[in-house]
Amino acid sequence: MQQLPPDARVLLICHVNPDGDALGSMLGFGLGLRRLGVRRMQATFPGPPEVPEPLKGLPGLDLLVPATEAYSDPDLVVCFDAASESRLGDLVDRLESAGTALVLDHHASNTGFGRVNLVDPHAAATSVVAEELLARLDVPLDAGIAECLYVALSTDTGSFRFEATTPAVHQLAARLLATGIRPGDISRRVFDTRPFGAVKLFGEVLGRARLEPAAAAGHGLVWTYATLDDLARHGQRPSVLEALIDSVRCTAEADVSCVVKQTAAGEWAVSMRSKGAVDVSRVAVALGGGGHRFAAGFTGRGTADEVVDRIRAELDGALTGTARG
Ligand code: 5GP
Ligand code: MN
Repeated sequence: MQQLPPDARVLLICHVNPDGDALGSMLGFGLGLRRLGVRRMQATFPGPPEVPEPLKGLPGLDLLVPATEAYSDPDLVVCFDAASESRLGDLVDRLESAGTALVLDHHASNTGFGRVNLVDPHAAATSVVAEELLARLDVPLDAGIAECLYVALSTDTGSFRFEATTPAVHQLAARLLATGIRPGDISRRVFDTRPFGAVKLFGEVLGRARLEPAAAAGHGLVWTYATLDDLARHGQRPSVLEALIDSVRCTAEADVSCVVKQTAAGEWAVSMRSKGAVDVSRVAVALGGGGHRFAAGFTGRGTADEVVDRIRAELDGALTGTARG
């Protein structure tokens, strides 16, 4: 990276429907490259160029361009938080057209699709990998970089509550906070702010949640769904539903939780979470998606009931294969 010619064009890409780790690690790394003197740089992600409302305060958003305007043959492409090429949508061709491709990720299922792959399945977030690389490049953390990486780290650790929250995670958080960023303001903006319409929408969607204690071989399944019509009635964008799984997964009686979110006619983005008895990434991979042991997802087709039927069937299959099952 230090040998990059000054006029090199660098394209940063994160996964479709970017979350805090995808955007935060990408923009934090981009701001770091800017400090190294990289001037011709774009950041992008596949699909509509819409940043989810909670992430609209991230530093470095000026790096973003719509996927349609991204360099067609960059000198360097760097991918963030994407376990496989399929997560790059239409931008996948840049892996071929770029001079070289670097992958930064933390999914155990990462397929190693870059020329150089910095993949640490033990890292709590892609931002951990990004910060390590910035440190090796001797880029000092400033408040802008730190805020991006902090959003990424706190998103993927569930605000430092999940199992992946190691001493090293808190040490990284300490380095980031030492730049003077304000965790209270950041957390309120990223996690604790939503329009009243979204509060009402959540009420309706949570009101129709189903608990199936016998599912997942008795470990229990809780699930709900939200349609495009639900969103339209409450005047909300699809990205407000990202936080819904956190309310559903509280359910004491179920190890597995699931939210089925309509994205188009007959198409659903499925979020799954587990408390530990079930490896939901196995279910997601079997249904064409991916993710981590405790958090995974896939694209489902048909009706919401058909999608949940498939999940139920795979849950039983996944459990017969696990030690605890
Ligand atoms: P979420 O439920 O927050 O959207 O996603 C949880 C995890 O599942 C993420 O870490 C992401 O890697 C993975 N994931 C979600 N949806 C998909 C998908 O459609 N395909 C793949 N491969 N992974 C997904
Ligand atoms: Mn991540």
